[in-house]
Amino acid sequence: MELEGKVAIVTGGSRGIGRAIARELHAAGAVVVVNYATRVAEAEALIAEFGRGRAVQADVSTTEGCEALHKAACELGDVEILVNNAGVTDDTLMMRMSDDQWDRVLDVNAGGAFRMSRAVLYGMVRRRSGAIVNIVSVSALRGNAGQVNYAASKAAVVAMTRSLSKEVAKRNIRVNAVAPGFIDTDMTKGLPDAVIEGANAAIPMQRMGKPEEVAPIVRFLCGPGALYITGQVIPVDGGLSA
Ligand code: NAP
Repeated sequence: MELEGKVAIVTGGSRGIGRAIARELHAAGAVVVVNYATRVAEAEALIAEFGRGRAVQADVSTTEGCEALHKAACELGDVEILVNNAGVTDDTLMMRMSDDQWDRVLDVNAGGAFRMSRAVLYGMVRRRSGAIVNIVSVSALRGNAGQVNYAASKAAVVAMTRSLSKEVAKRNIRVNAVAPGFIDTDMTKGLPDAVIEGANAAIPMQRMGKPEEVAPIVRFLCGPGALYITGQVIPVDGGLSA
């Protein structure tokens, strides 16, 4: 198994895309640290399913949370893989968007990826090895009405992915991003039917994706098949951004 024994942190691993990524990395042999914000039962159930790894509560929008999560992961071994997946939406038209709505979405989505990446980098630089995968969004590439905060947060992570990849490439650390389109998770369950119908009509494959259709590319980017791939943003969106 290509990731045998490697310690991997998946932020927001308790549900949705993060849970599918955690399962995929576990299947590849990784020891997965499943981070969550509030859903302790879901995270613990996943660790029970794996029979190894650890569930760790931490709010990735805070420096203390990220450092505590990194510390807890280090107790299992050197952290060789980080998947920055934790994310939130708080959609509304820009004219109605409050400062809090802007700040919170930026703090979790962009701030979390920044703080977690910084936390793991010291060890990765010292060991001259590591892989970081950031989960961004097709919204960052195309824009989306009602998601000014979310699209900006994910576009920030796209720019961070490309810039950080250039900073650390010579240390043999690879930084890539995956940009899902519309994926069937709790995040999209609340959308009105009309929005979902409109999205399906716009997607060349005419349907939403499943978390299990996003996770394999993350596994690939973490593993030996991707050793010469860095700074890339790979859409997984049924053709939406093509
Ligand atoms: P989801 O089902 O809503 O799950 C969100 C996950 O993030 C949960 O595990 C949640 O933990 C965690 N989380 C939220 N705030 C957090 C915080 N402050 N600190 C730590 N963890 C936090 O979302 P999803 O659809 O799987 O999305 C996963 C990622 O894919 C996100 O970055 C999202 O932006 C991105 N994405 C999703 C779609 C889509 O269509 N679904 C499309 C493009 C990109 P709890 O379970 O404890 O609440």
